[in-house]
Amino acid sequence: MSIEEARRQIEICNACRYCEGLCAVFPAINRNRTFTDSDVIQLANLCHNCRGCYYACQYIEPHEFSLNLPKVLAEVRQDSWQEFAVPGAVAKAFNKSGVAIALMVMVCFGLLIWFIKSFESQGGEGFYAVMSHNAMVAVFAPAFLLPLLMVGLSLRKYWKAIGGRSIRLADLKATMQSIAAMKDLSGGHGDGCNFEDEDRFSNARRWFHQATMYGFLLCFAATSVATVMHYAFTMPAPYGFFSLPKLLGLSGGFLLSIGTLGLAGLKLKADKNLSDKSIWGGEMGFVLLLFFVSTTGLLLYGFGESNGLPEWLAVHLGAVLAFFLLMPYSKMMHGFYRLAALTKNAQN
Ligand code: SF4
Ligand code: SF4
Repeated sequence: MSIEEARRQIEICNACRYCEGLCAVFPAINRNRTFTDSDVIQLANLCHNCRGCYYACQYIEPHEFSLNLPKVLAEVRQDSWQEFAVPGAVAKAFNKSGVAIALMVMVCFGLLIWFIKSFESQGGEGFYAVMSHNAMVAVFAPAFLLPLLMVGLSLRKYWKAIGGRSIRLADLKATMQSIAAMKDLSGGHGDGCNFEDEDRFSNARRWFHQATMYGFLLCFAATSVATVMHYAFTMPAPYGFFSLPKLLGLSGGFLLSIGTLGLAGLKLKADKNLSDKSIWGGEMGFVLLLFFVSTTGLLLYGFGESNGLPEWLAVHLGAVLAFFLLMPYSKMMHGFYRLAALTKNAQN
């Protein structure tokens, strides 16, 4: 139903073309006369729900055309993520329900506390005095690599469905430029998204998104640098305040906390009728989980020397574990699909 309805609305837009400059979706629409199901799915994944087209449109309700492109594309996008997820039923549960995400976090807390108590560290400093390096690797390597495999399988299904070709360096360059600047989030007019409950444009969503993305990448870089230092240079943690892992981790944690808090605030203000209402809880749950991961990570620095370290370590690592396990079945997938959709768009 959503695909049929999206096709109807896209065909009206293709005749109208008023919103041509607003985002990557409209130039992609204008390249076609007819739209297969795959075309509609690809267009839905190019859209990032900035809502600019809705407020520019003269054919929204009460007009008989009753256009609401942000909403219908959000529904198609969501359906496509569920269809391509491996296994799909798990995605359905976590995409829609913040409660399911919270339960998963609690289970991960429990697992980590049990693990820490059962496999006490035989020495080491800092975090490794609570949980040995080998124990951390034994828990987190599979918890990261298996979900990553599921992400890869889902993306492969998506790529096949939309008719993606072999990827050239030029495609990747165009994709990275688009993602780095998140220019589409400022809308074709440069005033940004309209993510509040009235006709008020702002670039806040773009800045919070960038803070979240760069914060996440900095945290990932901190872990990667620490891994290289541990294995290649025999320099195990803990690291000093001015070491690279700590500087990257702290700046990433602050950016991630600010970005996710801002996105949660905007989500509360947003008009739900311009998105897929059924996944509001799942999306909010995921944003709050990311906020929780970053703030507990920052607080952990404060607990580094205290008696509460084992409990805080379990809380933080439990949240990280839940985040990894949910990666293929949560809002996190939108980043991977956006990457694929922009790469396919660059091939046209
Ligand atoms: S959203 Fe409305 S104004 Fe914009 S192209 Fe479509 S029909 Fe035209
Ligand atoms: S909601 Fe924003 S990104 Fe999506 S089609 Fe409309 S203008 Fe483009």
